[in-house]
Amino acid sequence: MAVQTAATSTDSAAVDLGPAAALSCRECGHRVPLGPLFACEECFGPLEIAYDFSSYGADELRKRIEAGPANIWRYAPLLPVPADVADKPNLNPGWTPLVKADNLARELGVTGGLYVKDDSGNPTHSFKDRVVAQALEAARAFGFTTLSCSSTGNLAGAVGAAAARAGFRSCVFIPHDLEQGKVVMAAVYGGELVGIEGNYDDVNRFCSELIGDPAGEGWGFVNVNLRPYYAEGSKTLAYEVCEQLGWRLPDQIVVPIASGSQLTKIDKGLQELIALGLVEDRPYKIFGAQAAGCSPVSTAFKAGHDVVRPQKPDTIAKSLAIGNPADGPYVLDIARRTGGAVEDVTDEQVVDAIKLLARTEGVFAETAGGVTVGVTRKLIENGVLDPARTTVVLNTGDGLKTLDAVAGTGLTATIRPNLDSFREAGLA
Ligand SMILES: *Cc1c(COP(=O)(O)O)cnc(C)c1O
Ligand SMILES: [Zn+2]
Repeated sequence: MAVQTAATSTDSAAVDLGPAAALSCRECGHRVPLGPLFACEECFGPLEIAYDFSSYGADELRKRIEAGPANIWRYAPLLPVPADVADKPNLNPGWTPLVKADNLARELGVTGGLYVKDDSGNPTHSFKDRVVAQALEAARAFGFTTLSCSSTGNLAGAVGAAAARAGFRSCVFIPHDLEQGKVVMAAVYGGELVGIEGNYDDVNRFCSELIGDPAGEGWGFVNVNLRPYYAEGSKTLAYEVCEQLGWRLPDQIVVPIASGSQLTKIDKGLQELIALGLVEDRPYKIFGAQAAGCSPVSTAFKAGHDVVRPQKPDTIAKSLAIGNPADGPYVLDIARRTGGAVEDVTDEQVVDAIKLLARTEGVFAETAGGVTVGVTRKLIENGVLDPARTTVVLNTGDGLKTLDAVAGTGLTATIRPNLDSFREAGLA
């Protein structure tokens, strides 16, 4: 595997990424200095950020977070970013609403408290702004001048916007047949947007090739050679949920799965809060959600397998359509260790769930949100998710980007502008 070095020298002493101390291999623990690397040179396992949190006391850290800005940078002491990150040009995502979903709870029979963590209000209307913000700081630290990614849609928009704000060139790659809302959103920020004839897994393979080629020199691929940094952004979802619950762990959390990165880092974030003494150490369960038309992880979970067999995606939930998810095996580990599960729903159930969430809570989710709400409903019906426990469901994107999913939803009636016509239409 080609593991590229940075455009400029990466003397790790010169790299200030806050509490991030090194990269460490998830498989064998081998440590290397911080750099634009993603695979272990010993075993090809994925590299993750290792931190030095040793100077933190729980009370002082909690106060510092609470006094911080109303965005992800309140958690800067727990992220691979410099201490002055909030002063740099970026999109300042995060601190999105944790909606107490009492109406939805009633429909689903949840009595223990149901919440929707609604990430549709981020700057580019998906959770991806959280992860890109971390990768941007790494790109700055390593001297990259171009930001890039392989994307199922939302990431391309988040990278385009972040690059525009920070003054980077951006060139991003997507499957050529994405939803119009995602294509426009990715293009409008003025960077280069390239459609690849193939699915996401083809796009990803192409990007890996480009990284090893001189044509990709000086390029920071947020989810490839900057992946260890990028991935940490998902921890902020875990931090926010706990802080918004009053520094308490949820009993159950339902998370969508594309590559599986978000789910694994939510677990990492919860573990960190426990280790740091910011929340009480109690059991929690993590549930993964996929669309039936791209369900490699839930298929493996239900079959009791440790390996994830790649699939060819065919679903309206395009933002989750990764047939060969890099973090799939780790998702299986986490679901099993915490006593959770991984489940999938059909496209029809996704559409029903989008409408259910909109009708009950006034939250318009993209198809990925329909997947998590649909899976939540199915897990309750199957007796897998406990309705008497505090449950958090993630909505990771905005329904305006996937309007086709709810095509046919529209006018109740068309009338002439007079009361007779209003009455004739049965609206009085
Ligand atoms: C990217 C994405 C996810 C999750 O992606 P992972 O690769 O599993 O981290 C979830 N929801 C939406 C809307 C996304 O765009
Ligand atoms: Zn290793």
